[in-house]
Amino acid sequence: MKKLFTLAVCLFTVSTLCAQTQVIAHRGFHATKNSRNNTISSLQHAQDLGVYGSECDINETKDGELIVIHGPKHGPYKNVQEENFAVLRATKLDNGERVPTFDEYLIQAKKNTKTKLIIEIKSHPTKEQEARVVKNILAAVKQHKLVKNVEYIAFSKYICDQLVKNAPRGTKIAYLNGDLTPEQCKKERYTGIDYNLNTLKAHPEWINKCHELGLTVNVWTVNDKKDMQWFIDMGVDYITTDKPDVLKRMLKDK
Ligand code: MG
Repeated sequence: MKKLFTLAVCLFTVSTLCAQTQVIAHRGFHATKNSRNNTISSLQHAQDLGVYGSECDINETKDGELIVIHGPKHGPYKNVQEENFAVLRATKLDNGERVPTFDEYLIQAKKNTKTKLIIEIKSHPTKEQEARVVKNILAAVKQHKLVKNVEYIAFSKYICDQLVKNAPRGTKIAYLNGDLTPEQCKKERYTGIDYNLNTLKAHPEWINKCHELGLTVNVWTVNDKKDMQWFIDMGVDYITTDKPDVLKRMLKDK
């Protein structure tokens, strides 16, 4: 029995040390089949590809609808957060799809929960609005029974702090802005960093430091194969890319 226990501990340790980098499709898998970023089809393609996660961007419109769109400045719009939902919805994207609501996105996410939805909550002009957006996003995720199938990322420290305060225990929250050390992120009770590739290349020591502190490391947006290999070799937990098919193949060949 004791031997079996020791073996189980060893296997667990080895698998932890060798934990493989996971693929996150940046704004969904949009570089395929006439898809566009942040559309229902891009999420579906990421699910079909079978990657760990599919990232999306959430903005609140002037009339309070949560929509999936990169924004605020997007396409012909000066600021999608200052437009009413009907205006944004009326215009078709050039592939024929329309801007999805967050609710529609969650319905698609529910169809295949093996791919996690990585929800980027975009910065909004006031703390009051950011707090409301966080509250409404958490409520929608709970309503769709997807609490364990989503993770959150944000550039706004206030949004991350609101998530720490209001999200259920165990929720993954990673900070995007690149200006906090791993120790500071740990202190703020974030569960990981999600930094630009140049920030992490300037601070490669943050990768090990995060792991020592029990934080995850995600890096964006890595589209070059050499960079992908560098971050795989550095042992990051997640790579966010516009080319999830390429990265998935590289990891499989490895
Ligand atoms: Mg994003």
